Amino acid sequence: MQAWRTISLWMDQLDEPLDARPALEQDLDVDVCIIGAGYTGLWTAYYLKRQAPHLRIAIVEAQTAGFGASGRNGGWLMGNLLGEDRLLATLSPQQRRASVDLLHGIPDEVHAVLQRENLDCDYRKSGVLYCAARYPEQERNLRAYLDDLYRQGMNADDYRWLKPEQLAGQLRVANAYGAVFSPHVATLNPAKLVRGLARAVENLGVPIFENTPALDWQTGNVRTANASVRCQWVVPAVEGYATSLPPLGRHQLPVQSLLVATEPLPESAWEQIGLSQGQAFSEGSRQVTYGQRTADNRLVFGARGSYRFGGRLREDFSLSDSEIELRRYLFGELFPHLKQVRITHSWGGNLGMARRFRPHMLCDRQRGLAVAGGYGGEGVGASNLGGRTLAALILGQHNELTAQPWVHDNRPLSSLASWPPEPCRWLGYNAIIQSFVHEDRTLANPGSAPWRRRLASGLADFMEGFMH
Ligand SMILES: Cc1cc2nc3c(=O)[nH]c(=O)nc-3n(C[C@H](O)[C@H](O)[C@H](O)COP(=O)(O)OP(=O)(O)OC[C@H]3O[C@@H](n4cnc5c(N)ncnc54)[C@H](O)[C@@H]3O)c2cc1C
Repeated sequence: MQAWRTISLWMDQLDEPLDARPALEQDLDVDVCIIGAGYTGLWTAYYLKRQAPHLRIAIVEAQTAGFGASGRNGGWLMGNLLGEDRLLATLSPQQRRASVDLLHGIPDEVHAVLQRENLDCDYRKSGVLYCAARYPEQERNLRAYLDDLYRQGMNADDYRWLKPEQLAGQLRVANAYGAVFSPHVATLNPAKLVRGLARAVENLGVPIFENTPALDWQTGNVRTANASVRCQWVVPAVEGYATSLPPLGRHQLPVQSLLVATEPLPESAWEQIGLSQGQAFSEGSRQVTYGQRTADNRLVFGARGSYRFGGRLREDFSLSDSEIELRRYLFGELFPHLKQVRITHSWGGNLGMARRFRPHMLCDRQRGLAVAGGYGGEGVGASNLGGRTLAALILGQHNELTAQPWVHDNRPLSSLASWPPEPCRWLGYNAIIQSFVHEDRTLANPGSAPWRRRLASGLADFMEGFMH
């Protein structure tokens, strides 16, 4: 369908026809019914079917594989989890190191599957650069972040400080104060990954029914417009769309993140910028920026989420001029020679934010429910771990995957932390975001008095405290 091409740069660039797979028209009996053909649903099906080929699995998808965040994201495949410092805090140093190694291994695990299934998605594992480049406080914050990582047991092989001249060997940004580098991140083309995974899963014998929204679900049953799926296990894998399937929305808020892509840039522009190995990069503010150089030499750059009152999903992702200009301003601060560059694509998507700002992988054996999510904008890698873990839980395995602090085995969904009702959610979320915006504006202005800078950062620190 032509409309699916406008979802993102990545979907626009696919060289396959985006024809819809058949919808579900007849009742089905399966062992596992997965709702949603994004990474979580597809990885779960993939690992289940490879280990237990006899299982009958079906996926129902409201639109098409990759319609959600999986076909729209910034393409950072990260070997970590949002909030992992808090998740790992109660473990012994040895356990913590084992968990960290499991997380760091995610990009390599994805790469192994890409090779096994012969999938090309422009995978490059060249690490990530968190740059201090816009104001001096970024250096202080990033150095504090690095100290914190070392206190948690990570070492210089995992994360290390690059002085400005070392950073320049990889990425040349205006006013660099330095950067934290980690090798545990790859970049890729997200839509190629999700579409390729969908094909791999079908080849294993799992049907994907597209244009088939689940209308509701309960133990052993998923209802769609024309047919029902009876099943032993339900796996709702809808992440940023959780509000469409109560009661999932109590535990996961839909937050929107927005991106822009430039036209392909000439080699002369990239000689000024760097990123010759396809490294991921961000600038160290609380604007949550993320960028990469695409395989066809565009700059893709995203920033910051927003939340709509009542958890309303954003469906129209034609970005307004101000939304595009904010992103242009942020990358223009790093690369002044790109301030006037032509932006050819802009888009966004819904992602899921859990109340404690950290992911969960939950299995309720009594109700036959397995769910992973709350990745909070860091789900490309986390969803691979989520799929592997849900498969292990459904198969009743007890192993390294199921023994992690983000796993809630044999627990009801209601055991996850809930978001408070409106208007508290909206007020709380926006108060936090506004404190971050205020901090960024104050610190980015070299004329701001020192007391104003301290006050702005103190307020943002305080507000960030509510996220935990
Ligand atoms: C703009 C943006 C940029 C991001 N950048 C990054 C990044 O660079 N790195 C990173 O790690 N993470 C990033 N993320 C997050 C990451 O993309 C997601 O965490 C991940 O894709 C979630 O995958 P998923 O399969 O759980 O959900 P989704 O990909 O959202 O899939 C859910 C699927 O469920 C379907 N669905 C919804 N409701 C129903 C229903 N009722 N019935 C049937 N199907 C339904 C949807 O159509 C969708 O296809 C980003 C997210 C966004 C939005």
